[in-house]
Amino acid sequence: MKTNILGINFHTVDQKEALNQLRIFLREDKNHMLFTPNPEMVMKARDNAEFAKILNSGDLVVADGIGIVIASRFNGTKLKERVAGCDLIQKLFENINHELSVYLLGAKKGVCEIAKQNIESKYKNVKVIGFHHGYFKKENEPDIINEIRQLKPDVLLVGLGMYRQEKWIYDNKDILPVKISAGIGGSIDVFAGEVKRAPQIYQKLGLEWFYRVLKQPSRIIRLGALPKFMFLVICRYFKRKGMKV
Ligand code: UDP
Repeated sequence: MKTNILGINFHTVDQKEALNQLRIFLREDKNHMLFTPNPEMVMKARDNAEFAKILNSGDLVVADGIGIVIASRFNGTKLKERVAGCDLIQKLFENINHELSVYLLGAKKGVCEIAKQNIESKYKNVKVIGFHHGYFKKENEPDIINEIRQLKPDVLLVGLGMYRQEKWIYDNKDILPVKISAGIGGSIDVFAGEVKRAPQIYQKLGLEWFYRVLKQPSRIIRLGALPKFMFLVICRYFKRKGMKV
């Protein structure tokens, strides 16, 4: 089942169901796209029809942001919980009972190497068989694509920042022989220990965004989209109820 938040269709799954879906994807011979939009991405997609089309073509689209979960409460079909991309991938790594090959694409130079070491020492069944930093030029792209085509990883994690990563996954989905391509934002930094996740208490209270702003005050600009997002969600709710807004 899906629920539509300002034009983007989210699958109404909790983390466990999302994980099961990823397991199914791994058994199928097809490149499945996993997207994890937050309110900022939904707002960008309102102004960018191509981005909306890309997100809506995802094989699994989960809510990476408490704002999305709250917004779904104004819909007939509610989202059960936030499913952060980083948590979902960690759960997949933790629970996989056969060898899983992974390619990392994204983050600054040198970060993927540390992420690879950390991932392989923490998750015994996961092998990072290739990686490339995320600050490549257009002319280097064919080499990266060729490498992924040769290595055929099960999972391709793409952390190039929102929009760019989803577009990259979408543009290359038919030529990459992988089972899952996931847009994962700053998760490679998290695997490398460059960026710390918020403590559990912040995550439970839906305040991870607040913790990230405390740690990196420049992110406050990115929260600018949030009040407008909530305003539009509420307006749409009242309109559906037949009230004038
Ligand atoms: N990044 C990248 N190439 C770029 C811009 C960003 O590889 O041209 C990486 C950046 O180093 C970071 C991730 O993309 O690892 C974006 O992290 P952020 O938490 O900002 O994710 P977002 O919220 O934009 O998805």
